[in-house]
Amino acid sequence: MNANLYLTLRQGFPANLDAIAIETDQGLCYSWRDIERGSAMLANWLDSLDLPAGSRIAAHIDKSVEAMLLYLATLRSGHVFLPLNPAYQSAELSYFIGNAEPAVVVCTPSNFGWVSKLAFQQGTRYVVTLDDQRGGSLLERAAHHSDQHTAVARRPEDLAAILYTSGTTGRSKGAMLSHANLASNALMLKDYWGWVPGDVLLHALPIFHVHGLFIAIHAALLNGSTMLWHSKFEPQRVLADLPRATLFMGVPTFYTRLLAQPGLNAQLCSGMRLFISGSAPMLVDTFSQWQDRTGHTVLERYGMSETLMLTSNPYTADERFQGQSQRVGGSVGFPLPGVTLRIANAQGQALALHEVGSIQVKGPNVFGGYWRMPEKTAQEFTADGFFITGDMGTLDERGYVRIVGRDKDLIISGGLNVYPAEIEDALNQLPGVLESAVVGMPHPDFGEVGCAFVLAKPGAVLDPAALLLALKGQLAGFKVPKLCKLLDELPRNAMGKVQKNVLRQQLQQLGSDSN
Ligand code: AMP
Repeated sequence: MNANLYLTLRQGFPANLDAIAIETDQGLCYSWRDIERGSAMLANWLDSLDLPAGSRIAAHIDKSVEAMLLYLATLRSGHVFLPLNPAYQSAELSYFIGNAEPAVVVCTPSNFGWVSKLAFQQGTRYVVTLDDQRGGSLLERAAHHSDQHTAVARRPEDLAAILYTSGTTGRSKGAMLSHANLASNALMLKDYWGWVPGDVLLHALPIFHVHGLFIAIHAALLNGSTMLWHSKFEPQRVLADLPRATLFMGVPTFYTRLLAQPGLNAQLCSGMRLFISGSAPMLVDTFSQWQDRTGHTVLERYGMSETLMLTSNPYTADERFQGQSQRVGGSVGFPLPGVTLRIANAQGQALALHEVGSIQVKGPNVFGGYWRMPEKTAQEFTADGFFITGDMGTLDERGYVRIVGRDKDLIISGGLNVYPAEIEDALNQLPGVLESAVVGMPHPDFGEVGCAFVLAKPGAVLDPAALLLALKGQLAGFKVPKLCKLLDELPRNAMGKVQKNVLRQQLQQLGSDSN
Protein backbone atom coordinates (compact mmCIF):
# COMPACT_ATOMS: atom_id res chain seq x y z
CA MET A 1 0.00 0.00 0.00
CA ASN A 2 1.20 3.52 -0.78
CA ALA A 3 1.76 5.29 2.57
CA ASN A 4 2.25 8.70 0.96
CA LEU A 5 0.78 11.18 3.47
CA TYR A 6 -0.80 13.21 0.70
CA LEU A 7 -3.13 10.30 -0.08
CA THR A 8 -4.24 10.13 3.56
CA LEU A 9 -4.93 13.87 3.60
CA ARG A 10 -6.63 13.68 0.21
CA GLN A 11 -9.17 11.21 1.56
CA GLY A 12 -10.52 13.97 3.77
CA PHE A 13 -11.36 16.32 0.87
CA PRO A 14 -15.12 16.69 0.44
CA ALA A 15 -16.95 15.08 -2.49
CA ASN A 16 -17.68 18.53 -3.86
CA LEU A 17 -14.25 19.72 -4.93
CA ASP A 18 -15.68 23.10 -5.90
CA ALA A 19 -16.46 23.93 -2.28
CA ILE A 20 -14.21 26.51 -0.62
CA ALA A 21 -11.16 25.04 1.08
CA ILE A 22 -9.34 28.26 1.94
CA GLU A 23 -10.41 31.86 2.18
CA THR A 24 -7.52 34.28 2.64
CA ASP A 25 -7.30 37.62 4.39
CA GLN A 26 -6.49 39.07 0.97
CA GLY A 27 -9.96 38.12 -0.24
CA LEU A 28 -8.94 35.08 -2.31
CA CYS A 29 -10.80 31.79 -2.29
CA TYR A 30 -9.26 28.42 -3.14
CA SER A 31 -11.46 25.42 -3.84
CA TRP A 32 -10.48 21.87 -2.99
CA ARG A 33 -9.91 21.38 -6.69
CA ASP A 34 -7.43 24.29 -6.66
CA ILE A 35 -5.51 22.55 -3.88
CA GLU A 36 -5.50 19.26 -5.75
CA ARG A 37 -4.49 20.79 -9.09
CA GLY A 38 -2.09 23.44 -7.79
CA SER A 39 -0.13 20.91 -5.79
CA ALA A 40 -0.18 18.52 -8.80
CA MET A 41 1.41 21.16 -11.06
CA LEU A 42 4.12 21.85 -8.50
CA ALA A 43 4.67 18.10 -8.00
CA ASN A 44 5.00 17.62 -11.76
CA TRP A 45 7.59 20.41 -11.86
CA LEU A 46 9.53 18.69 -9.07
CA ASP A 47 9.26 15.37 -10.94
CA SER A 48 10.63 17.04 -14.07
CA LEU A 49 13.87 17.82 -12.23
CA ASP A 50 14.56 14.10 -11.99
CA LEU A 51 15.84 14.28 -8.43
CA PRO A 52 16.50 11.13 -6.44
CA ALA A 53 13.55 10.24 -4.19
CA GLY A 54 13.89 11.81 -0.75
CA SER A 55 15.63 14.99 -1.98
CA ARG A 56 15.21 17.92 0.37
CA ILE A 57 13.08 20.83 -0.81
CA ALA A 58 13.81 23.85 1.37
CA ALA A 59 11.27 26.65 1.75
CA HIS A 60 12.53 29.99 3.08
CA ILE A 61 9.37 31.88 2.17
CA ASP A 62 6.57 33.90 3.70
CA LYS A 63 3.30 32.30 4.64
CA SER A 64 1.00 31.83 1.65
CA VAL A 65 -1.41 29.22 0.34
CA GLU A 66 1.09 28.49 -2.43
CA ALA A 67 3.72 27.75 0.21
CA MET A 68 1.31 25.15 1.61
CA LEU A 69 0.81 23.77 -1.92
CA LEU A 70 4.58 23.43 -2.23
CA TYR A 71 4.54 21.33 0.93
CA LEU A 72 1.80 19.08 -0.46
CA ALA A 73 3.64 18.85 -3.80
CA THR A 74 6.80 17.78 -2.01
CA LEU A 75 4.86 14.97 -0.33
CA ARG A 76 3.24 13.96 -3.62
CA SER A 77 6.57 13.76 -5.43
CA GLY A 78 8.18 11.69 -2.67
CA HIS A 79 10.64 14.33 -1.50
CA VAL A 80 11.32 15.78 1.93
CA PHE A 81 9.98 19.18 2.95
CA LEU A 82 12.29 21.49 4.85
CA PRO A 83 10.46 24.56 6.14
CA LEU A 84 12.65 27.41 7.36
CA ASN A 85 11.68 30.52 9.25
CA PRO A 86 11.82 33.34 6.66
CA ALA A 87 13.37 35.55 9.33
CA TYR A 88 16.58 33.48 9.23
CA GLN A 89 19.57 35.46 8.04
CA SER A 90 22.59 34.27 6.08
CA ALA A 91 24.60 32.63 8.89
CA GLU A 92 21.55 30.64 10.01
CA LEU A 93 20.49 29.70 6.49
CA SER A 94 24.00 28.70 5.59
CA TYR A 95 24.00 26.21 8.47
CA PHE A 96 20.65 24.66 7.48
CA ILE A 97 21.57 24.40 3.79
CA GLY A 98 25.00 22.99 4.60
CA ASN A 99 23.46 20.44 6.94
CA ALA A 100 20.40 19.37 4.93
CA GLU A 101 21.88 19.75 1.42
CA PRO A 102 18.59 20.53 -0.29
CA ALA A 103 18.36 19.95 -4.04
CA VAL A 104 15.87 22.81 -4.34
CA VAL A 105 15.65 26.02 -2.37
CA VAL A 106 12.60 28.23 -2.68
CA CYS A 107 13.14 31.76 -1.37
CA THR A 108 11.44 35.14 -1.70
CA PRO A 109 12.36 37.19 -4.78
CA SER A 110 13.78 39.90 -2.54
CA ASN A 111 16.24 37.43 -0.95
CA PHE A 112 17.19 35.69 -4.20
CA GLY A 113 20.59 37.41 -4.49
CA TRP A 114 22.13 36.27 -1.23
CA VAL A 115 20.15 33.04 -0.82
CA SER A 116 21.00 31.72 -4.30
CA LYS A 117 24.68 32.56 -3.87
CA LEU A 118 24.83 30.78 -0.55
CA ALA A 119 22.83 27.78 -1.80
CA PHE A 120 24.77 27.30 -5.07
CA GLN A 121 28.04 27.51 -3.15
CA GLN A 122 26.84 24.59 -1.03
CA GLY A 123 25.74 22.47 -3.98
CA THR A 124 22.00 23.22 -4.29
CA ARG A 125 20.95 22.64 -7.90
CA TYR A 126 17.83 24.78 -8.16
CA VAL A 127 16.92 28.06 -6.49
CA VAL A 128 13.50 29.46 -7.40
CA THR A 129 11.36 32.20 -5.89
CA LEU A 130 7.91 32.65 -4.44
CA ASP A 131 6.39 35.70 -2.78
CA ASP A 132 3.18 35.96 -0.79
CA GLN A 133 1.28 37.47 -3.76
CA ARG A 134 1.71 34.46 -6.10
CA GLY A 135 4.72 36.04 -7.77
CA GLY A 136 8.11 34.48 -8.50
CA SER A 137 9.69 31.85 -10.73
CA LEU A 138 8.30 28.77 -8.92
CA LEU A 139 4.74 29.28 -10.10
CA GLU A 140 5.89 30.34 -13.58
CA ARG A 141 7.68 27.01 -13.93
CA ALA A 142 4.83 25.00 -12.50
CA ALA A 143 2.41 26.69 -14.92
CA HIS A 144 3.89 24.62 -17.77
CA HIS A 145 3.01 21.34 -16.11
CA SER A 146 -0.04 19.13 -16.03
CA ASP A 147 -2.55 19.49 -13.18
CA GLN A 148 -2.90 15.73 -12.83
CA HIS A 149 -0.45 13.81 -10.68
CA THR A 150 -0.22 10.40 -9.08
CA ALA A 151 1.44 10.44 -5.67
CA VAL A 152 4.80 8.66 -5.69
CA ALA A 153 4.78 5.42 -3.68
CA ARG A 154 6.21 5.87 -0.20
CA ARG A 155 6.69 3.42 2.65
CA PRO A 156 5.41 4.42 6.10
CA GLU A 157 8.95 4.95 7.39
CA ASP A 158 10.08 7.11 4.46
CA LEU A 159 10.92 10.69 5.33
CA ALA A 160 8.31 13.36 4.66
CA ALA A 161 9.83 16.38 6.40
CA ILE A 162 12.78 17.62 8.36
CA LEU A 163 12.03 20.20 11.02
CA TYR A 164 14.94 22.02 12.55
CA THR A 165 14.37 22.39 16.28
CA SER A 166 14.01 25.94 17.46
CA GLY A 167 17.44 25.85 19.07
CA THR A 168 16.57 27.99 22.09
CA THR A 169 19.32 26.13 23.93
CA GLY A 170 21.91 24.88 21.44
CA ARG A 171 22.61 24.28 17.78
CA SER A 172 19.51 23.41 15.84
CA LYS A 173 19.05 19.74 14.90
CA GLY A 174 16.98 18.40 12.00
CA ALA A 175 14.18 16.18 13.32
CA MET A 176 13.35 13.55 10.68
CA LEU A 177 9.61 12.91 10.44
CA SER A 178 8.18 10.09 8.38
CA HIS A 179 4.92 9.81 6.48
CA ALA A 180 3.69 7.44 9.22
CA ASN A 181 4.68 9.81 12.07
CA LEU A 182 2.68 12.62 10.52
CA ALA A 183 -0.31 10.53 9.42
CA SER A 184 -0.76 8.75 12.76
CA ASN A 185 -0.65 11.98 14.77
CA ALA A 186 -3.02 13.79 12.42
CA LEU A 187 -5.62 11.00 12.33
CA MET A 188 -5.54 10.61 16.11
CA LEU A 189 -5.92 14.36 16.77
CA LYS A 190 -8.83 14.65 14.39
CA ASP A 191 -10.71 12.22 16.63
CA TYR A 192 -9.36 13.40 19.97
CA TRP A 193 -10.29 17.01 19.37
CA GLY A 194 -13.68 16.01 18.04
CA TRP A 195 -13.52 17.55 14.56
CA VAL A 196 -16.99 17.58 13.04
CA PRO A 197 -18.35 18.31 9.56
CA GLY A 198 -18.72 22.05 9.15
CA ASP A 199 -15.78 22.98 11.37
CA VAL A 200 -13.97 26.10 10.17
CA LEU A 201 -10.37 26.67 11.27
CA LEU A 202 -9.04 30.16 11.76
CA HIS A 203 -5.40 29.71 10.74
CA ALA A 204 -3.14 32.52 11.98
CA LEU A 205 0.00 30.55 12.87
CA PRO A 206 3.23 30.58 10.87
CA ILE A 207 3.71 27.53 8.64
CA PHE A 208 7.42 26.85 9.14
CA HIS A 209 6.70 25.11 12.44
CA VAL A 210 4.99 21.90 13.60
CA HIS A 211 2.00 23.77 15.05
CA GLY A 212 0.85 25.73 12.00
CA LEU A 213 2.10 23.39 9.28
CA PHE A 214 1.22 19.97 10.59
CA ILE A 215 -1.21 20.17 13.48
CA ALA A 216 -3.44 22.87 12.04
CA ILE A 217 -3.29 22.15 8.31
CA HIS A 218 -3.39 18.36 8.47
CA ALA A 219 -6.47 18.34 10.65
CA ALA A 220 -8.32 20.83 8.46
CA LEU A 221 -7.48 18.90 5.27
CA LEU A 222 -8.35 15.54 6.84
CA ASN A 223 -11.66 16.92 7.98
CA GLY A 224 -12.47 18.66 4.70
CA SER A 225 -12.74 21.88 6.71
CA THR A 226 -12.51 25.39 5.37
CA MET A 227 -9.57 27.44 6.63
CA LEU A 228 -9.78 31.18 7.17
CA TRP A 229 -6.20 31.91 6.25
CA HIS A 230 -4.42 34.83 7.90
CA SER A 231 -1.04 35.61 6.43
CA LYS A 232 0.07 36.71 9.87
CA PHE A 233 -1.43 37.05 13.30
CA GLU A 234 -3.20 40.37 13.72
CA PRO A 235 -5.51 40.52 16.74
CA GLN A 236 -8.05 42.81 15.06
CA ARG A 237 -8.38 40.50 12.08
CA VAL A 238 -8.77 37.49 14.31
CA LEU A 239 -11.59 39.21 16.19
CA ALA A 240 -13.26 40.05 12.89
CA ASP A 241 -13.14 36.41 11.73
CA LEU A 242 -14.02 34.69 15.02
CA PRO A 243 -17.77 34.76 14.35
CA ARG A 244 -17.22 32.72 11.17
CA ALA A 245 -14.86 30.16 12.73
CA THR A 246 -15.34 27.19 15.04
CA LEU A 247 -11.71 26.38 15.86
CA PHE A 248 -8.64 28.43 16.67
CA MET A 249 -5.09 27.30 17.38
CA GLY A 250 -2.59 29.69 18.88
CA VAL A 251 0.52 30.13 20.94
CA PRO A 252 -0.02 31.73 24.38
CA THR A 253 1.12 35.12 23.09
CA PHE A 254 -1.83 35.12 20.65
CA TYR A 255 -4.19 34.73 23.59
CA THR A 256 -2.62 37.49 25.67
CA ARG A 257 -2.69 39.83 22.67
CA LEU A 258 -6.33 38.99 21.99
CA LEU A 259 -7.18 39.61 25.64
CA ALA A 260 -5.65 43.07 25.26
CA GLN A 261 -8.34 43.87 22.64
CA PRO A 262 -11.32 45.60 24.24
CA GLY A 263 -13.58 44.08 21.58
CA LEU A 264 -13.03 40.47 22.70
CA ASN A 265 -16.21 39.13 24.26
CA ALA A 266 -18.36 36.02 24.65
CA GLN A 267 -20.69 37.02 21.85
CA LEU A 268 -17.87 37.08 19.28
CA CYS A 269 -16.93 33.57 20.36
CA SER A 270 -20.44 32.14 20.56
CA GLY A 271 -20.00 30.00 17.44
CA MET A 272 -16.59 28.72 18.49
CA ARG A 273 -16.21 25.06 19.39
CA LEU A 274 -12.59 24.96 20.53
CA PHE A 275 -9.61 27.16 21.38
CA ILE A 276 -6.30 25.29 21.47
CA SER A 277 -3.02 26.57 22.86
CA GLY A 278 0.49 25.16 22.76
CA SER A 279 4.16 25.53 21.79
CA ALA A 280 4.88 27.37 25.04
CA PRO A 281 3.32 27.35 28.52
CA MET A 282 0.09 29.29 28.98
CA LEU A 283 -0.07 31.28 32.19
CA VAL A 284 -2.88 30.21 34.50
CA ASP A 285 -3.86 33.88 34.60
CA THR A 286 -4.33 33.92 30.82
CA PHE A 287 -6.31 30.66 30.99
CA SER A 288 -8.68 32.13 33.64
CA GLN A 289 -9.04 35.49 31.95
CA TRP A 290 -9.95 33.74 28.70
CA GLN A 291 -12.68 31.81 30.53
CA ASP A 292 -14.05 35.00 32.09
CA ARG A 293 -14.03 37.03 28.89
CA THR A 294 -15.19 34.46 26.35
CA GLY A 295 -16.90 31.69 28.29
CA HIS A 296 -14.50 29.19 26.65
CA THR A 297 -11.93 27.02 28.38
CA VAL A 298 -8.71 26.88 26.39
CA LEU A 299 -7.48 23.36 25.68
CA GLU A 300 -3.73 23.27 26.24
CA ARG A 301 -1.63 20.61 24.61
CA TYR A 302 2.07 19.79 24.50
CA GLY A 303 4.29 18.57 21.72
CA MET A 304 7.53 19.17 19.95
CA SER A 305 9.15 18.99 16.53
CA GLU A 306 10.59 15.56 17.28
CA THR A 307 7.36 13.97 18.44
CA LEU A 308 4.44 16.01 17.12
CA MET A 309 1.66 16.08 19.75
CA LEU A 310 2.23 14.17 22.97
CA THR A 311 -0.36 15.24 25.52
CA SER A 312 -3.61 17.15 25.52
CA ASN A 313 -6.21 18.30 27.96
CA PRO A 314 -9.45 16.44 27.27
CA TYR A 315 -11.82 17.73 24.63
CA THR A 316 -14.86 15.79 25.69
CA ALA A 317 -16.39 15.27 29.07
CA ASP A 318 -14.44 12.47 30.64
CA GLU A 319 -16.10 9.67 32.57
CA ARG A 320 -13.19 9.77 35.03
CA PHE A 321 -14.55 13.12 36.17
CA GLN A 322 -18.26 12.42 36.41
CA GLY A 323 -18.92 13.64 32.92
CA GLN A 324 -17.36 17.05 33.40
CA SER A 325 -14.89 18.41 30.92
CA GLN A 326 -11.68 18.91 32.81
CA ARG A 327 -9.22 21.17 31.11
CA VAL A 328 -6.82 22.29 33.77
CA GLY A 329 -4.89 25.54 33.56
CA GLY A 330 -1.16 25.02 34.07
CA SER A 331 -1.37 21.38 32.96
CA VAL A 332 -0.81 19.99 29.48
CA GLY A 333 -3.32 17.20 30.07
CA PHE A 334 -3.03 13.47 29.47
CA PRO A 335 -0.78 11.42 27.18
CA LEU A 336 -2.61 11.16 23.85
CA PRO A 337 -3.89 7.79 22.58
CA GLY A 338 -0.96 5.70 21.36
CA VAL A 339 1.61 7.74 23.31
CA THR A 340 3.39 6.09 26.23
CA LEU A 341 4.76 8.71 28.60
CA ARG A 342 6.78 8.30 31.75
CA ILE A 343 8.44 10.63 34.20
CA ALA A 344 11.81 9.08 34.87
CA ASN A 345 15.12 9.64 36.55
CA ALA A 346 18.48 9.61 34.76
CA GLN A 347 18.51 5.78 34.91
CA GLY A 348 15.18 5.58 33.10
CA GLN A 349 13.26 4.43 36.18
CA ALA A 350 9.72 5.74 36.48
CA LEU A 351 9.29 8.13 39.42
CA ALA A 352 6.49 8.39 41.94
CA LEU A 353 3.54 10.74 41.39
CA HIS A 354 4.37 14.44 41.83
CA GLU A 355 8.10 13.80 41.63
CA VAL A 356 9.86 15.96 39.09
CA GLY A 357 11.69 14.03 36.40
CA SER A 358 12.55 13.79 32.74
CA ILE A 359 9.57 13.41 30.40
CA GLN A 360 10.20 10.39 28.17
CA VAL A 361 7.94 9.14 25.41
CA LYS A 362 7.33 6.38 22.91
CA GLY A 363 4.76 6.06 20.14
CA PRO A 364 4.10 6.03 16.39
CA ASN A 365 4.45 9.81 16.43
CA VAL A 366 8.06 9.82 17.65
CA PHE A 367 10.61 10.78 14.98
CA GLY A 368 13.32 8.50 13.60
CA GLY A 369 16.28 10.60 14.69
CA TYR A 370 18.24 13.75 13.91
CA TRP A 371 19.38 14.24 10.35
CA ARG A 372 22.99 13.15 9.99
CA MET A 373 23.58 13.19 13.76
CA PRO A 374 23.56 9.53 14.82
CA GLU A 375 25.43 10.22 18.06
CA LYS A 376 23.02 12.98 19.10
CA THR A 377 20.13 10.70 18.24
CA ALA A 378 21.57 7.87 20.31
CA GLN A 379 22.08 10.21 23.28
CA GLU A 380 18.45 11.27 23.27
CA PHE A 381 16.91 7.80 23.35
CA THR A 382 17.02 5.50 26.37
CA ALA A 383 18.20 1.90 26.08
CA ASP A 384 14.55 0.76 26.16
CA GLY A 385 13.59 3.03 23.28
CA PHE A 386 12.04 6.07 24.98
CA PHE A 387 12.80 9.51 23.55
CA ILE A 388 14.13 11.90 26.19
CA THR A 389 12.15 15.06 25.47
CA GLY A 390 14.44 17.37 27.47
CA ASP A 391 11.38 18.66 29.33
CA MET A 392 11.01 18.13 33.06
CA GLY A 393 7.58 17.38 34.45
CA THR A 394 5.32 15.66 36.92
CA LEU A 395 2.31 13.37 36.82
CA ASP A 396 -0.51 13.53 39.35
CA GLU A 397 -2.90 10.83 40.55
CA ARG A 398 -5.45 11.73 37.91
CA GLY A 399 -2.89 11.39 35.12
CA TYR A 400 -2.35 15.08 34.34
CA VAL A 401 1.10 16.02 33.10
CA ARG A 402 2.67 19.28 34.18
CA ILE A 403 5.79 20.75 32.65
CA VAL A 404 8.15 22.45 35.04
CA GLY A 405 10.84 23.47 32.55
CA ARG A 406 13.52 22.24 30.20
CA ASP A 407 16.25 20.13 31.80
CA LYS A 408 18.79 22.63 30.53
CA ASP A 409 16.96 25.39 32.41
CA LEU A 410 17.28 23.53 35.69
CA ILE A 411 19.17 25.57 38.27
CA ILE A 412 21.35 23.66 40.72
CA SER A 413 21.90 25.87 43.72
CA GLY A 414 24.13 24.56 46.51
CA GLY A 415 23.51 21.07 45.15
CA LEU A 416 19.74 21.44 45.28
CA ASN A 417 17.50 21.42 42.22
CA VAL A 418 15.48 24.54 41.54
CA TYR A 419 12.83 24.32 38.84
CA PRO A 420 12.31 27.72 37.25
CA ALA A 421 8.61 27.05 36.57
CA GLU A 422 7.88 26.74 40.30
CA ILE A 423 9.51 30.10 41.02
CA GLU A 424 7.83 31.69 38.02
CA ASP A 425 4.41 30.43 39.18
CA ALA A 426 4.97 31.93 42.62
CA LEU A 427 6.12 35.24 41.15
CA ASN A 428 3.22 35.39 38.69
CA GLN A 429 0.78 35.18 41.56
CA LEU A 430 2.19 38.23 43.33
CA PRO A 431 0.11 41.40 42.94
CA GLY A 432 1.09 43.50 39.95
CA VAL A 433 3.17 40.78 38.26
CA LEU A 434 2.20 40.01 34.69
CA GLU A 435 4.80 37.42 33.85
CA SER A 436 8.25 36.26 34.82
CA ALA A 437 11.17 34.14 33.67
CA VAL A 438 13.82 32.71 35.96
CA VAL A 439 17.28 31.66 34.77
CA GLY A 440 20.40 30.48 36.56
CA MET A 441 23.53 32.55 36.97
CA PRO A 442 26.92 31.55 38.31
CA HIS A 443 27.52 32.12 42.01
CA PRO A 444 30.85 31.73 43.85
CA ASP A 445 29.33 30.00 46.83
CA PHE A 446 26.25 28.11 45.61
CA GLY A 447 27.53 27.30 42.13
CA GLU A 448 24.37 28.75 40.65
CA VAL A 449 21.53 30.95 41.86
CA GLY A 450 18.34 32.16 40.21
CA CYS A 451 17.77 35.52 38.61
CA ALA A 452 14.17 36.59 38.00
CA PHE A 453 13.10 38.78 35.10
CA VAL A 454 9.69 40.25 35.79
CA LEU A 455 7.10 42.15 33.75
CA ALA A 456 4.60 44.39 35.55
CA LYS A 457 0.88 44.47 34.78
CA PRO A 458 -0.16 47.69 33.02
CA GLY A 459 -0.20 50.50 35.56
CA ALA A 460 1.46 48.45 38.32
CA VAL A 461 4.66 49.69 39.93
CA LEU A 462 6.89 46.89 41.17
CA ASP A 463 9.78 46.91 43.57
CA PRO A 464 12.22 44.05 42.83
CA ALA A 465 13.38 43.81 46.46
CA ALA A 466 9.80 43.56 47.69
CA LEU A 467 9.09 40.76 45.21
CA LEU A 468 12.02 38.72 46.46
CA LEU A 469 10.94 39.34 50.03
CA ALA A 470 7.43 38.13 49.23
CA LEU A 471 8.89 34.94 47.73
CA LYS A 472 10.89 34.32 50.89
CA GLY A 473 7.62 33.94 52.75
CA GLN A 474 6.47 31.24 50.31
CA LEU A 475 9.44 29.21 49.14
CA ALA A 476 12.41 27.49 50.68
CA GLY A 477 15.30 29.96 50.86
CA PHE A 478 17.50 28.15 48.33
CA LYS A 479 14.79 28.57 45.69
CA VAL A 480 14.45 32.32 46.04
CA PRO A 481 16.30 34.14 43.26
CA LYS A 482 19.15 36.34 44.41
CA LEU A 483 18.53 38.96 41.76
CA CYS A 484 15.36 40.41 40.28
CA LYS A 485 15.21 42.64 37.21
CA LEU A 486 12.19 44.41 35.79
CA LEU A 487 11.72 44.27 32.02
CA ASP A 488 9.18 45.75 29.60
CA GLU A 489 9.18 42.64 27.46
CA LEU A 490 10.56 39.10 27.52
CA PRO A 491 12.64 37.98 24.52
CA ARG A 492 10.61 35.41 22.58
CA ASN A 493 11.11 33.38 19.44
CA ALA A 494 8.60 33.23 16.62
CA MET A 495 6.50 30.62 18.46
CA GLY A 496 6.23 32.70 21.61
CA LYS A 497 8.79 30.70 23.59
CA VAL A 498 10.79 32.76 26.05
CA GLN A 499 14.40 32.67 24.93
CA LYS A 500 16.18 31.96 28.18
CA ASN A 501 19.51 31.85 26.37
CA VAL A 502 19.00 35.54 25.49
CA LEU A 503 18.23 36.33 29.14
CA ARG A 504 21.38 34.49 30.19
CA GLN A 505 23.38 36.53 27.68
CA GLN A 506 21.88 39.73 29.10
CA LEU A 507 22.96 38.63 32.54
CA GLN A 508 26.48 37.91 31.35
CA GLN A 509 26.54 41.34 29.76
CA LEU A 510 25.42 42.92 33.02
CA GLY A 511 28.14 41.00 34.85
CA SER A 512 30.90 42.07 32.47
CA ASP A 513 29.66 45.69 32.38
CA SER A 514 29.86 45.91 36.14
CA ASN A 515 33.41 44.44 36.22
P1 AMP B 1 9.30 22.93 19.25
O1 AMP B 1 10.04 21.72 18.85
O2 AMP B 1 9.84 24.20 18.68
O3 AMP B 1 7.84 22.78 18.97
O4 AMP B 1 9.46 23.09 20.82
C1 AMP B 1 9.03 22.08 21.67
C2 AMP B 1 9.12 22.52 23.11
O5 AMP B 1 8.16 23.54 23.37
C3 AMP B 1 8.78 21.42 24.07
O6 AMP B 1 9.85 20.52 24.28
C4 AMP B 1 8.39 22.20 25.30
O7 AMP B 1 9.55 22.61 26.01
C5 AMP B 1 7.72 23.43 24.72
N1 AMP B 1 6.25 23.32 24.74
C6 AMP B 1 5.42 22.96 23.77
N2 AMP B 1 4.12 23.00 24.17
C7 AMP B 1 4.15 23.40 25.45
C8 AMP B 1 3.17 23.64 26.46
N3 AMP B 1 1.87 23.52 26.20
N4 AMP B 1 3.58 24.03 27.68
C9 AMP B 1 4.90 24.17 27.96
N5 AMP B 1 5.88 23.98 27.06
C10 AMP B 1 5.51 23.60 25.83
